[in-house]
Amino acid sequence: MKIYNFLEEGPRPSKIVAVGRNYAEHAKELGNEAPSEPIIFLKPPSALLPHEGKIVRPPQSQRVDYEGELAMVIGKRARNVRADRWRDFVRGFTCANDVTARDLQKKDVQFTRGKSFDTFCPLGPHIETDLDPADLSLVTRVNGQVKQNGRTSMMVFPCPVIVEFITSVMTLEPGDVILTGTPAGVGPLQSGDTVEVEIQGIGTLRNHVA
Ligand code: ZN
Repeated sequence: MKIYNFLEEGPRPSKIVAVGRNYAEHAKELGNEAPSEPIIFLKPPSALLPHEGKIVRPPQSQRVDYEGELAMVIGKRARNVRADRWRDFVRGFTCANDVTARDLQKKDVQFTRGKSFDTFCPLGPHIETDLDPADLSLVTRVNGQVKQNGRTSMMVFPCPVIVEFITSVMTLEPGDVILTGTPAGVGPLQSGDTVEVEIQGIGTLRNHVA
């Protein structure tokens, strides 16, 4: 397996688009309803962190959470893509951790600050190009203990619908990344923790908390 460093190998994403509340059980655990259409938000490319990199908890937050997620990496400029053509535009798949300052996300009206600190987007360890993402197990562990144990088949909006929805809003460029939402079981990270996101058919993204 080739380790892929999204910070050093091109094309670097012009944007990272994330889908919120895309697993009903996770929406519920935060006191939200499952949405009737995808809820999207942006994370800046400056938040990217490679496999084995250190997540830094910012002093402004008392509550920094992991969110294990399947990520799609765009391979071709995509605009107004129909759901049945989605795969032509996706180069492959990787593991992501949508690290979130939960207290700031709740305090602010929108997600920008809580989702955007440097190191808040671990991605890797490589891009799997030959994979059907419809029903893969997704497990998040903190210090070896299982915290999230879901399947991508539990997504409210599956990958084809997400690609259609996002590209009806904005043009995606090669290298752009889509985070597809997190299953139930989110929780806090403490200094010294090791957090792993393992997705069947891709591998394990491992990061440490500074
Ligand atoms: Zn997320």
